[in-house]
Parts: sequence; C-alpha cells; structure tokens
Amino acid sequence: MEIYYVQSRQVARLPENVEFDAIVIGSGATGGWAARELCEAGLDTLMLDRGRMVEHRQDYPTEGLGAFALP
Ligand SMILES: Cc1cc2nc3c(=O)[nH]c(=O)nc-3n(C[C@H](O)[C@H](O)[C@H](O)COP(=O)(O)OP(=O)(O)OC[C@H]3O[C@@H](n4cnc5c(N)ncnc54)[C@H](O)[C@@H]3O)c2cc1C
Repeated sequence: MEIYYVQSRQVARLPENVEFDAIVIGSGATGGWAARELCEAGLDTLMLDRGRMVEHRQDYPTEGLGAFALP
C-alpha cells in the first residue's frame, strides 16, 4: 500500500510505469479523508492537487484576525 501525493510542479518525481488503484483529485479535507480510507483499504492511491503547498498555520495569513481587521 503506497500513497503518492503530487502537486502540479512535482509530477516528474513519480516513478515510471507506476499504476494506481485509485486517483483522488483534490487534497482538501474531503480528498484527504478519501485518500486515507482508500489507503487503509489497501489501495495504491494517487492524490493530485492543482494548488500550491499550504503549510499548516504559517500559510493562514488571516487566522486569528478579528472581522474588523479583514479587508
Ligand atoms: C478562511 C477559512 C477558514 C476556515 N476555517 C475552518 C475551521 O477553522 N474549521 C473547519 O472545520 N473548517 C474551516 N473552514 C472550512 C474548511 O476549510 C472547508 O469546509 C473544507 O476545506 C472543505 O473541504 P473540501 O475538501 O471540500 O475543499 P477544499 O479544502 O477547498 O479542497 C479542495 C482541493 O481541491 C483542489 N482542486 C480543486 N480543483 C482541482 C482540480 N481541477 N485539479 C486538482 N485539484 C483541484 C484545490 O486546490 C483544493 O486543494 C474554513 C474555510 C475558510 C475559507
């Protein structure tokens, strides 16, 4: 059981000729849980996301701001 997580600029890192049982498009809350369930069921899973890498906390620039402080 393997999971490969690929963002658009990292596709070249995939091994050649690798096959998947399932492909999840989007790595948000929904896709992430779907991929976890698939992996726990033993399926080789590829997860693709078009967005940039988002680091928990440090990439939430408006986290904790009051509504009055938002643009
Ligand atoms: C500012 C803000 C604060 C929030 N705070 C909280 C909180 O504190 N607690 C909480 O429970 N919820 C919070 N939420 C809500 C929570 O973020 C969403 O409910 C949740 O992220 C929805 O998950 P999702 O998987 O449906 O969508 P998303 O998380 O939006 O994931 C969708 C993913 O799919 C990718 N994607 C889309 N189209 C494509 C495509 N064509 N090809 C490849 N990839 C694609 C996107 O790049 C994205 O990564 C907040 C939302 C916002 C905007």
